[in-house]
Amino acid sequence: MTQPGYQFASDNTAGVAPEAWAALERANQGFAPGYGEDEWTALACELIRRIFETDCDVFFAFNGTAANSLALASMCQSYHSIICHEHAHVETDECGAPEFFSNGTKVLLARGAGGKIDPADTERLVTRRTDLHYPKPRVVSVTQPTEMGTVYSIQELEAIHGLARRHHLKLHMDGARFANALVSLDVPAADITWRRGVDVLCLGATKLGTAVGDAVVFFDRTLAEEFEYRCKQAGQLASKMRYLSAPWVGLLENGAWLKHARHANECAQRLATALLEIDGIELVAPVQANAVFVRMPEPALDHLKGRGWHFYTFIGDGGARLMCSWQTTDEDVSLLVRDIKAGVSLAN
Ligand SMILES: *Cc1c(COP(=O)(O)O)cnc(C)c1O
Repeated sequence: MTQPGYQFASDNTAGVAPEAWAALERANQGFAPGYGEDEWTALACELIRRIFETDCDVFFAFNGTAANSLALASMCQSYHSIICHEHAHVETDECGAPEFFSNGTKVLLARGAGGKIDPADTERLVTRRTDLHYPKPRVVSVTQPTEMGTVYSIQELEAIHGLARRHHLKLHMDGARFANALVSLDVPAADITWRRGVDVLCLGATKLGTAVGDAVVFFDRTLAEEFEYRCKQAGQLASKMRYLSAPWVGLLENGAWLKHARHANECAQRLATALLEIDGIELVAPVQANAVFVRMPEPALDHLKGRGWHFYTFIGDGGARLMCSWQTTDEDVSLLVRDIKAGVSLAN
């Protein structure tokens, strides 16, 4: 049963991409060892190592909240602090899981335009106190692409890398939509991760086109020590792991992950271009991945809701967030644009 109106509500309203589904079918034969000892899991890890051109340690968790919070917990003691953007998922959408799984590590909030942390503001948080009464800054967490649909450039990542190095901080990347950033920048994956000092990457697949199962990629392999115990204790070790890892193989082995990410980004560009032609519409942030944040008059928003469209208006700096996915079609984009046009003309 499909429910119309959810095409742009999130990239998690889309189904499972065909390549991921086909891999599940292939994996669903006979018996295989549990808890990640199977061949699908080995292959998925190998493909990730190949893509990142380095010998990293890879683990799978059921979702991004678990991946982020367990990864951050592995980098921190309870008296440490994690610096992230004030609109970061880690801060606003994980119900305190990073603090919970790290036994109380404090999250400190940096500001910055377009969902990106401002290095100067981050440095202020790191240097304003050095005494033992302040939660010791330990990790900088960046989201790539950001919650506002913007993408950190290599230069911006390098600036954060420099800051992390100067202050002996670890670098965490929330890559729930990493593929969308990667195709947007069109650079090797290593260039925006470990070559820019990223120690741990949470690599998302759910929004890209799997049913479940995000990866935690440790470029600093010393941080991965005993990580499997954390996963197990947190209820994040899948016994039938092949069903988490096989879809990864399906998406990675022939580049489908990049094809789908490119498609989603192109849909977002098409949508943004069409919306910019409408008087009374403005973009809240530049469209660099698969999200379009638009501000429009209140009656237009009401009109859209009346037409059955679902979307969020409380994320980041506000505005309506319209997300594209592998499943978005040209027709979806045209229908939405038509209804926004009608809504705005009602408001004028
Ligand atoms: C969706 C998302 C996550 C993961 O969320 P889950 O619902 O726990 O899978 C993490 N970070 C960002 C930026 C996200 O958008």
